[in-house]
Formats: sequence, C-alpha cells, structure tokens
Amino acid sequence: MVSRVIPVEDFDLVIFGATGDLARRKILPGLYRRFVSGQMPDGAQIIGAARTDQDDAAFQAETRAAIIEFGKVTEGDADLDRFLKHLHYVAIDAKGEGGWKELKSKMREGVVHAFYFSVAPSLFGDIAERLAKHDIADDDSRIVVEKPFGRDLESARALNKVLSQHFDEQQIYRIDHYLGKETVQNLMAVRFANILFEPLWNAQYIDHVQITVAETVGVGGRGSYYDNSGAIRDMVQNHMMQLLCLIAMEPPYHFDPDAVRDEKLKVIRALEPVAPTEIVRGQYQANGEPGYLEDAENPQSRTESYIAMKVRVSNWRWQGTPFYLRTGKKLRARTSEIAITFKEPPHSIFEDAGAAGEPKANELIIRLQPNEGMDLKVMIKEPGPGGMRLVQVPLDMTFADALGPDAADVTDAYERLIMDVIRGNQTLFMRGDEVEAAWAWTDPIIQAWDEGKARPEPYDPGSSGPDEALGLMHRDGRRWREIRS
Ligand code: NAP
Repeated sequence: MVSRVIPVEDFDLVIFGATGDLARRKILPGLYRRFVSGQMPDGAQIIGAARTDQDDAAFQAETRAAIIEFGKVTEGDADLDRFLKHLHYVAIDAKGEGGWKELKSKMREGVVHAFYFSVAPSLFGDIAERLAKHDIADDDSRIVVEKPFGRDLESARALNKVLSQHFDEQQIYRIDHYLGKETVQNLMAVRFANILFEPLWNAQYIDHVQITVAETVGVGGRGSYYDNSGAIRDMVQNHMMQLLCLIAMEPPYHFDPDAVRDEKLKVIRALEPVAPTEIVRGQYQANGEPGYLEDAENPQSRTESYIAMKVRVSNWRWQGTPFYLRTGKKLRARTSEIAITFKEPPHSIFEDAGAAGEPKANELIIRLQPNEGMDLKVMIKEPGPGGMRLVQVPLDMTFADALGPDAADVTDAYERLIMDVIRGNQTLFMRGDEVEAAWAWTDPIIQAWDEGKARPEPYDPGSSGPDEALGLMHRDGRRWREIRS
C-alpha cells in the first residue's frame, strides 16, 4: 500500500530552543524526514533561535550532526545538503531585546508562520510577549508549546493566561506527542469507522479496561527533573489521560478539533476522585544497578517511578466498568497497550453438553508499541475429533503485516504533529480547558500524597511493579495482563 503525501503550504517555522535536546533529537530529524517524503515544500524556511551565538553555517552543521545521530541518516545522504539550505539561525535571548528585529526581517509575507516553544515553560510568557511587541506574530500565526503544561492546576492556569494575552486558543498547539502516534489515532478509526465495536462499547458488555505504559529504562540522566514530577505528572495526567479519553469518549459529531476535544473534556470531567486505597505507588530498588533514589540523587525522595490506579468514569456509558491504569520505569518489558476485556456470554450452551475447555471472555488488545496492531481474542472449537473442545485464539493483526512495508515506516509522532500545525489542524492537540480539567482531577491525588508522606512501595527492576498492585485487581476478582513486549 503506497501512502499518499500531500505537501503542506509554504511556511516559516521558528524553533525557540533549537540548540536543545528536543530539537536535536525529535524536531529537526522529524522535519528532515518530512522533507525527504516530499511533504515539506521548497518554500519552507526553518529558523533556529536560542541564546548560543552562532551563524547559519554553524547551526546547519549542528543540525547535520543531530540528523545523522538521531535520524538514522548516513553522512553522504544526498537529501541532507538540500534540506540544510532551508535552515537559518538567529541568536535570541527570550528575556532580552536583541535579535528580535533580525528575526522579523527573516519572516516572509504570505506564508504560514509557526513558532515552536521548545524551551522551559518559564520562558513561554517572555517569548509570547516579545513576538507580539516586535510585531512578529499576527492573528494567523501558530504557537506550539511543549509538555509539561504546568505542574498543577494553578500553574497550568497561569500558563494559559500568559499565552492567551497574545494568542487566541485557535492559535495555540499544546503538544502531547502520544496523540501523534499512529496507533493512538487508530483508536478513533477502530471505534468510529466500524460498526462492529460501538454497540458493545459500554458497561453492559465491557467488564473492564486496562491501560499499560511500561518502560524498561530508569530515570538516570534526567533524575532530578523526573523527581520533581513522578509518574503521575509525567505520564498519567497527560498521556494516559488522553488514551483513557479516546477509549471512553462518546462519538464526536465530526472529526473536527473542537468536536473531538469537547468529547474528551466530558470524559475528564466525569472522572471520579480516586480513593487512596485504589492507588499503588512504587519506586524501583537498587539491584546491582542504582535504584531510583540514587538515580534521582535524592535519598529521601518520595516520588513514584510506578503507579497503578483504578479509575471510574461516572456517566451512563461506563457506570460499573473500571479503568485500571499502570505505568512505570524499569519494568519487565517496554510496552504500551490498551486491553478491553468484555463480559462473558450470559449463558453457555456448551456447559451441559460435555464440552471441554473453559469459556473465556473476549478481549480486544490494542498494541501501541512495539509491534503496533490489534489482537481480538475469540473462542473457537479446537479443530479435530474429540467432541466440542473450546479454545481461545487471537485474531492477530499487526499493522505492518496487514498494510505492507510502508506501514513499518510510520511517521513519527512529532513529524505528524508539526505538519498538522502547518495545516492548521488542532485535532491532535490539547485544548486549554482539557489540560486544566486533567490537573483538577490529578491535584487532590498529589495533595493527599504530600500530606500523607507515605513512601512508595519498593519493586525490583525488571519486575511487573510492586506486589501491592496485584492486590488492586485481585480484590475485584481480576488480573493484570502480563507485561511483555
Ligand atoms: P534543553 O535541552 O535544556 O534545551 C533548552 C533550549 O532552550 C536550548 O536550545 C537553549 O539554548 C534554549 N534556551 C534556554 N534559555 C533560553 C533563553 N533565555 N532564551 C532563548 N533560548 C533559551 O531542553 P529540551 O530537553 O530540549 O526541552 C525543551 C522543552 O521541551 C522543555 O519544555 C521540555 O520540558 C520539553 N520536552 C522535552 C523533551 C525531551 O525529550 N527533551 C520531551 C518532552 C518535552 P541556549 O542555551 O543556546 O539558549
């Protein structure tokens, strides 16, 4: 299957923080791939901005090295030189007045203007203010802001306020790169482009949902940053909340930014507060390698590197169907998946007919990574003689197998999202009220931990997390799925 690439309009994209880690690892290599695919037009200009004093040639050389290192590109790649010609650089201190006039002189009329704030959130206000003051941004300009969007409701509100002084909500693109993942978008396609699932997609037919985002890496290298946030701020408030929304939301009337985001917001607002007994927090221990406390360089840290929780969506569709979320570092395998366990059939016609094999509930497993695809577990008769023996088999669809070699080369989330910014499509970006609602739900959980001062439960690196997390499901007569890639 050949994918169709439609070039976007000509654009000027200014990357504040162009010398930083995110720009080097994701943004610039992502833009390069869009260039190679033909999606980035000849009339595109990328302007790097940061305090480092350097000229265009130095920025291009740095970008070349970054693309070779992180974009899996070889030194002699013919497209690289052509791509680098699109790059320029302006030295700007977000807090100072130098460089802005030069930036303005580089911006062209009649093309899309986008400004990527790949800097610390404390600089968002300075940049927004100076873009307005120097008349660089106008009513059609777009700004892209990175996570974390605040660390609680109050700080998220403050950021929204600062940005809204200079930009309308339609101009603000808050990145949650999970939303740019191919399979995450597929959640919407599976639910809303098929008749098969939607009639069963409710508490009457679904027993429970498990959402797992497991990592094998620890926090080493970014320990002090992570220690300030923990799993709830780093993963639950944003990425896992978005996954939950896509599973739980009502069908939007249209695949349109506000229609989709309105429905997601309703889910977040319907989340019940979570009781402390329904949350398990963990911290990985030392085990030959440094444990969390050493990685975070904070022997007293009470920050969680693992969290499991039972979440209820309080509305008609989901009354009685819990959502179990878990995420953690240094776990057994790197995997992200959503498992939907259906209820067992109300009556088994096979039970009294001498049938062997336990009937099992159907399961739909949506694998986000690795090995993107879907797996629907259904009961069938085991082939061969010997009477009616029931067995559960997976109807396994790996997207790369089903869609051919192009599917294996799926666009990275950042690439897709940047192109959406240029196209002016906000569907895969979080709206301000969504982010605030998510913090409003998370804040009391964090406050209760801060007040309780309890330590997270220790767990072994390479395990599935603390044993206490098993109890969270056992109490309900359910089990976590095994963590494996
Ligand atoms: P970083 O490596 O520390 O880079 C920060 C960038 O900001 C550098 O280019 C730095 O360049 C520039 N900068 C700092 N102070 C400045 C100022 N006063 N004026 C202008 N530029 C300034 O950070 P990062 O990891 O790239 O992260 C950038 C943003 O993305 C942060 O908000 C982060 O939370 C978010 N994020 C990062 C990742 C990731 O994987 N790295 C993932 C998700 C979200 P100079 O020193 O030359 O000024």
